[in-house]
Formats: sequence, C-alpha cells, structure tokens
Amino acid sequence: MSSLLIRDAAILTLDRDDRYLARGDIHVVDGRIVSVHAAGDAGGGPGTRGTDGAPAADRVVDGRGLLAAPGLVNAHTHSPGALLAGTMDTESHPAFMWLNQADTSGRTPQEVYISAMLNAVQMLLAGVTTAIDHFPAQNFGPEDIAAATRAYADSGMRMVLAVRIFDDTFGDIFPRDTKLPPDLERELARVAPLPPKPLAQTRELTEDAIARYHAPARRLSVFPAPTNPVRCTDALLEMSRDIAERFGVGIHTHLLESKVQTRLAQERHGCTMVEHLERLGMLSPKLSCAHTIWIDDPDIERLARHGVVVVHNPESNLKLGTGIAPIGRMVAAGVTVALGSDGNVTNDNQQLHEAMRLAACLGRVVEPDRRKWVTARQALAMATRGGAAAAQLADIGRIEAGCRADIVLYDLSRPEWTPVNDPVRQMVFSETGASVHTVVVDGRVLVEAGRITAFDAAAVIAEAKPMLAAIRERNRDLYAFARRMGELFP
Ligand SMILES: [Zn+2]
Repeated sequence: MSSLLIRDAAILTLDRDDRYLARGDIHVVDGRIVSVHAAGDAGGGPGTRGTDGAPAADRVVDGRGLLAAPGLVNAHTHSPGALLAGTMDTESHPAFMWLNQADTSGRTPQEVYISAMLNAVQMLLAGVTTAIDHFPAQNFGPEDIAAATRAYADSGMRMVLAVRIFDDTFGDIFPRDTKLPPDLERELARVAPLPPKPLAQTRELTEDAIARYHAPARRLSVFPAPTNPVRCTDALLEMSRDIAERFGVGIHTHLLESKVQTRLAQERHGCTMVEHLERLGMLSPKLSCAHTIWIDDPDIERLARHGVVVVHNPESNLKLGTGIAPIGRMVAAGVTVALGSDGNVTNDNQQLHEAMRLAACLGRVVEPDRRKWVTARQALAMATRGGAAAAQLADIGRIEAGCRADIVLYDLSRPEWTPVNDPVRQMVFSETGASVHTVVVDGRVLVEAGRITAFDAAAVIAEAKPMLAAIRERNRDLYAFARRMGELFP
C-alpha cells in the first residue's frame, strides 16, 4: 500500500455535489482517492489517521496556496505530431495531410518513443493527466506500438492508444475534379505513401495490441481507431465494432472534419456518414469522434440518442479553417462533448485550457441567443467528464472518494488567480496552464513546482531537437511529392 495526502489545498471537486472547498485535504491510497474533506472535518475512515489527527500517509503534499482540480483529459491528440510545432500555417486540410504523411512516415522506434514522450512533457506541464493518442499516422508495425506504449508507461500519464487503421484510399485528400499530372501519378505509384494493409493483417495488429497492452488498471487502454470512416471499407468499420464489443474497449475516429467528407459519404452510401454508421451498428457510447464539424440537427439527434461522444478540437479547426463545430447545439441536444488539442501540426501546443476557452467562446459569434452559449462550467466538464467518457473511464475527471487520484494543483499566487473570484470561470477564462504547480496521476507525483520530476524531460527535449531534420532527410522523396500534392489545393 502506498498513500498520499494533499493537505490544506483549495479543492474544486467537480463531484456529484459540485463542492468547492476553500481549504481541505485529499487522502489517496494505492492511486485511488479515499477521502476528500474540508479542513477540520474528520475524514478518511478508520485506520487512516496518524497520531496528530491528520490522515497518515507515505507522502504529504503541502497544498497551502494551491488549488486542486481534476486532471484534464485531452481526448484527441497525435503524438507523432509532437516534433512538428511551427511547421505549417495557411496550408489547406489536404496539403496539411500530405505534408504530415511525409513528416511522420518511416520513423524509427526511438523517434516514435521520443515523440510520444515530448507530447507527454507538453501535456503534463499543462495539467493534462489523460490523453487519447490517435496513433500512429500510417504504415506502422508492432515495434511502433511497443515504442509508444513504453513512452506512455515512462511518462506516468494515463493513456489511450487509439490504433489508427484504414483499408481504403484517402479520397478526401485527392483532387476531385482533375486528374493528377502524369508525372505526379507515376510518383504516387512509386512513393506509395498510403498503402492499405490487408484487413486480416490490420485485425491481427489491433487485436494483438489490445491483448498485449490493454490494462486500464495500469493506466493504459487500447482502442481500434479507424482514421476516418471515409477512408475505410464497411468491413473494417464492422471489424472495429466487433473488436470493441469483444474486448470491452472503446472506438475512436475522426468524423466529418472537412466538407468534402460529407459529400463523399453521400456519394458512397446515399446517406449521411452518421446514418451510415448507425446502419452499421457503430453508434454507441463506446464511440468517440474527433472534430464532427459538418453535421446537421437530425444527425446530432442521432449521436445524442446513441450516447456517442464528440471530441471538439476548436484550435485545430480554426487553424485549418475547416469550420466551427456546432457544439452549443450538441450540448443542448444532450450529446456528450469532450475536448482535444489535436496534434502539434494543426495546433502547435497541447494546452487544453485554450481549448476550453475556445469551446466556451467560439460559438458565441454565430449564436445571437445567449441562452444557448456554452458556459465556462460546461467547457470544464468537457475537459474532465466528457474526456473520461471518451476514454471509457468512469473513475476519472472528478475529485471524489473512489475515483483515481488524477489531480492538478494550480499556484494561486499567480496573477491569473488574484483574487480567486470564481474558480471555474478562472480555470476556463484566465488560466493558460502556466500556473500548473503539481501534477498527480494515479496517486503518483509527476510534476512538482512546475517541473517534471517523474523522468528526465530535459533529456527528452535534447534528443528530440535534431529528429525532424533527420526524418526529412530520410523521407526527402516523399516530402517533395507531398509538397507537389499540397500545391494542387491552393
Ligand atoms: Zn486528429
């Protein structure tokens, strides 16, 4: 048994009763919260108290001047993107996709590992304790999955490896009305950037990853994760549904991120993609869908009826100009909404506080009825409970007895918190992640006084610095091809 006591902190519990304690204690045993109580109250139950009346603990964190809040859940990121901050600006969605192929292809397991660790460094320092990593980009094998899962374990974070699979062409990033110039067509055949694997092989890789690594009690879950239904056959989608059912895991995907994806669905299936997924029996609380921008009210109703989780990525959507997801309408319809940063290539940091702020504010410019605006409290719920739903974890996202101890302590001496007028509103509208002081995951302290102490973050950063240049040198043909493909989408 190991125990941790966070003593004398302000506590924003987000529990069932939505308690805010101006001063209180959190007692943790073996990674699980056993009591949360106001200072001076007896708590913790028999056998948990020391001789001075305070709960006995192996480790005590002095919470004075700190605000404890549930760790944030980043429900959509791509760890291979960690090396790619600042690589793009005004590129279109297809151009970004092609360049991203070149920047993420053919990586060594060590590059995969360091990229996942670098992503974790950014998230931990921003108060993110759980993430869904839609991984990898393409063309992966068991060695890549092994490298990523090793990074997750070493980071100390709680992670979902969403194994990104496909078995059809990426029709949404090829020109629709013009043929490729003949030399580019030849180059496409030669570099073969997105070769689908046979379905049996994809099944084996996915099932093997789940059998080997899926262990939520040890902080790692594994989901089948079709890259996007428009790039998958029905056979792959049904396979994902069946694997999720059989292993009791979730499913993660991109959905309706760009307008052309809605058209492709109509052409292929004669109905919307959401209707098609309903026919395939894919819609359920197990499914989480990143972006989900181009969707109408009947389909929003469908998602609500089946309990599907939508993962809103407001910064990525803004940067790529792909659209404003109708999050206010989804919340009103009863859809569970989570938040994601997306990868660093479309949103150049992993700050979930920015995503919360935008989730609250972005829809306001197009919605004259203020009663329909997303509130700070709803935005914070997206980054906690909504993310927990996407990750299929019922016991994170709140500070409450029985929950896993994933807790972030914010430094209240910072100007953002001076004075503390409303902890929820300041968490969403003021905080940038800069006040993150201490981060606890599963009862283990990973960040102290704003520095990662669980592993050598400086060594990760040093090793990551030259990696992209080496990858681009190795992939130079693919990179040249990707640039030309991108130019077809001015
Ligand atoms: Zn994404």
